[in-house]
Amino acid sequence: MEFEPVIGLEVHAQLKTKSKIFAPESTEFGGSPNSHVSPICLGLPGVLPVLNKEVLNLAFKAAIALNCELHLRSRFARKNYFYPDLPKGYQISQYEEPFSTGGWVEIGTNGSTKRINLTRIHMEEDAGKLVHENHGNSSFVDLNRAGVPLVEIVSEPEIASAEEAVEYMKNIRSILRYIGVCDGNMEEGSLRCDANVSVRPKGSDKLGTKAEIKNVNSFRYVQKAIEYEIKRQIMAVENGEEIVQETRLFDSNKGVTFSMRSKEEAHDYRYFPDPDLLPVVMEENHIEELRRSLPELPDKKLARFKEEYKLPDYDAGVLTSTIEIADYFESCLKKHNNPKIVSNWIMTEVLRELKDDDDIDSFPISPDKLGELLNLIENGTISGKIAKEVFEDMLSSGKTAEEIVKEKGMTQISDQSELENIVSQILADNPDAIAKYKAGDQKLMGFFVGQVMKETQGKANPKVVNEILRKGLSD
Ligand code: ADP
Ligand code: MG
Repeated sequence: MEFEPVIGLEVHAQLKTKSKIFAPESTEFGGSPNSHVSPICLGLPGVLPVLNKEVLNLAFKAAIALNCELHLRSRFARKNYFYPDLPKGYQISQYEEPFSTGGWVEIGTNGSTKRINLTRIHMEEDAGKLVHENHGNSSFVDLNRAGVPLVEIVSEPEIASAEEAVEYMKNIRSILRYIGVCDGNMEEGSLRCDANVSVRPKGSDKLGTKAEIKNVNSFRYVQKAIEYEIKRQIMAVENGEEIVQETRLFDSNKGVTFSMRSKEEAHDYRYFPDPDLLPVVMEENHIEELRRSLPELPDKKLARFKEEYKLPDYDAGVLTSTIEIADYFESCLKKHNNPKIVSNWIMTEVLRELKDDDDIDSFPISPDKLGELLNLIENGTISGKIAKEVFEDMLSSGKTAEEIVKEKGMTQISDQSELENIVSQILADNPDAIAKYKAGDQKLMGFFVGQVMKETQGKANPKVVNEILRKGLSD
């Protein structure tokens, strides 16, 4: 019998606010343990949570960009459970009245697009972190993350493979980064998912029993964890075992998932509306404002770049991978109007120098300055090869291309008679090479061009040199 996997993801995305969802401490990553903690995060008696308004703005922006139905009125609920990383004894989340339901994310599977529907998005607070490493038999508790704002984006069980799951998550990450809602930094835990996996006989319309793999925090692990889990379940079913509904963890060293606990049901959590928090009421106007503030989203931009700039799929994909790179590209085009040339330079020279995609905003060579450099190639002032040297110099000195070219006397030599003189000298010095060339060793052309470049410190116009050499060698 053949089996097919069914996957639903619960993606947790940290909202990019300065302070926590109900308390004034910083959400910044990397503070010393328990340095961003207040009585509110600890749930000490007598404290009251106050909702951070920016959380609403960001959460609603996410829901708009993900095509969701928005609910003007929503409510926070307490999800009660005991765990050492949750000192209050409950997590503030949304349950019966989330701020958003429905919506979808499109993924491209072998050339066609597939829509993955969303069940809902809700706001919630993050829990703290248990630190087990390097402490012998003890575990330590760091509550810096407790109360960090999240949205949980829940998909319908419509994802059909590990690859689809990764693409789905990549697209969500890209959209959230575009709209400035989440930094998408998976190493720091800003984006992670719980992967729900089940298998069933191929073609069946009934869902099998699922296992939930908790807290998977890289695309590679999403891929590996789901692939392993599918294999494990198929093997179990084939051996006549029953799949138990449970929560599992992924061990990235061994590449396997293992059981953590049997799955709790919603009723185990004793959800109830949080009596310390008022219902959230949004105004239509305000939502319209948020809608208008959204930038062009990645899919649209990608299609436009291909259409408007006639860029190959690959280029358009790289250039729209972040909104910052896309903006850099388009600003550069305002100075230099050949899209493919600009694209080549960004994809090779610029992106090679960047450590993180985000850094392009502070890249020492502004788009204007890169455009000016490309203009110097186009109008024949410098060759493409010299331009790479100028680029390096611009990076370290911060000067403009024109300044560097002038100071270093790098202007390209295109003067016919000047180059003819140099070429004839080189031909006169290399009778052996000429003989070999004439006997059929065409590769020697490169040698002659190299000699001219050496003589002119790379400044000779390669096109002119080639013409002169070809003529000289055929005489
Ligand atoms: P729970 O109550 O266990 O949290 P939910 O119904 O809330 O389950 O679903 C949580 C996630 O699990 C959703 O993303 C959903 O699409 C997915 N899911 C539900 N049932 C299955 C299944 N049988 N196989 C795979 N994924 C599933
Ligand atoms: Mg659930």
